[in-house]
Amino acid sequence: MKETAQILREKGLKVTPQRIAVYTMLRNSMEHPNAEMIYKALEPTNPTMSLATVYKTLDYFKHLGLVQELNVGEPSSRYDAIVACHPHTVCSVCGKVQDLEMDELTELHKKLKQELDFEVEQEQLILYGTCARCRKKA
Ligand code: ZN
Ligand code: MN
Repeated sequence: MKETAQILREKGLKVTPQRIAVYTMLRNSMEHPNAEMIYKALEPTNPTMSLATVYKTLDYFKHLGLVQELNVGEPSSRYDAIVACHPHTVCSVCGKVQDLEMDELTELHKKLKQELDFEVEQEQLILYGTCARCRKKA
């Protein structure tokens, strides 16, 4: 994995400890956090960073193509360091957002091309349901 500071530099961004912290957190996280979640996770190690800085940083990152913004129907966006489009599942009970990795869905793009001569450029697929943990609790 490339060093976070180097990736930021290659995008022409001034490298600051806070930018490194936000991007590193997103790269290592599978949780698709929103700005508030990122802010809370980084607060202990970056006590001078404000929530406004997190928002601004995420906005820079989005415009530079370092992260993608996900709207899962909540008031605030989630963020993903995997910028290629991919499907997600959202638990309607706990709000957990996960990558949906299924060969059938990858195959779908190929099939569309082969059978309908349609080239998929973007995809927004979110499946809502209840995760195993929340179903067990219910
Ligand atoms: Zn759940
Ligand atoms: Mn994802």
